[in-house]
Amino acid sequence: MKITNYLLYHDNDIPYETIPSPNFSNYFRPEYLVLHCTTGFTVEDGVRSLIDPRPDRPDLRVSAHLVIGREGRVVQLVPFNKCAWHCGPSLWNGIKGLNSRAIGIELVNAGDVERDGLGQWVKRGRIIPDEDVVELQHPLDYHVHGWQKYPPEQVAATLEVAQLLFPAYNLSDLLGHEDINPQDRRDPGPAFPMQWLHARLLNLNEAEPVKYAYRTTRVLNPIRSGPGEEFPEAEGSPLPRNIPLGVLEEQGDWAFVHVLVAVNGVPDRMAWIAKDRIEMDTLKLRHYHPPALAD
Ligand SMILES: [Zn+2]
Repeated sequence: MKITNYLLYHDNDIPYETIPSPNFSNYFRPEYLVLHCTTGFTVEDGVRSLIDPRPDRPDLRVSAHLVIGREGRVVQLVPFNKCAWHCGPSLWNGIKGLNSRAIGIELVNAGDVERDGLGQWVKRGRIIPDEDVVELQHPLDYHVHGWQKYPPEQVAATLEVAQLLFPAYNLSDLLGHEDINPQDRRDPGPAFPMQWLHARLLNLNEAEPVKYAYRTTRVLNPIRSGPGEEFPEAEGSPLPRNIPLGVLEEQGDWAFVHVLVAVNGVPDRMAWIAKDRIEMDTLKLRHYHPPALAD
């Protein structure tokens, strides 16, 4: 696989399949690779909306540079020197609106799936076989869902493309849509081996934890032994500003959090904090797995 004139080619100079999208703009300084899932079933499903010029609603035009099918089929919609429209409202590392800074890949995957009345996994009326579904908790949510699995052929194709794009465009990080819009997005979701791919691309130890979903916002943030002002302050309280936290549970205006760094000499604390003292961070939520809670 190689890139010629901002398009993908096989090593024998045969181009990859292209289905040009009219939805792109010119200013583009890629720095990140952002992964998505189509919430559909086939490449054709996924491509349809990504090439739709939407004359009725031009504000809803979307696109991505590539679509990768479940069998590993790679289709290019936008050349790598043009800005595709896949991020929507987004924030990362102080940058608002990531489209002009990110190459976007849509992976064909149904995303989260529900059980129907017969106990079968379905998405928009279509049955997903049991063996294609894994039940997982998204680190941003507090319940377990079914998620369609990503087949090895699709993951392998994504790795191959990403390993080409990172050095070619000097990309600095791999992100999920869920990382840059944690309020609204859950793609590519917990069934995708994001941490593994991230480690492969950035030469990190896969097991190395990078955590946090929230951070403290005030100068002093008391943490307590229970969900209310009436509970005594916990050891290590108050936390200073910008301390990373994983939220384990919520109760009214209070959150039970895992303090992800040692503060005031106290490592790895779990305690309650008022929710108006924390805000969601734009950090890699996929790396945060709540610790096993002691009985
Ligand atoms: Zn997305």
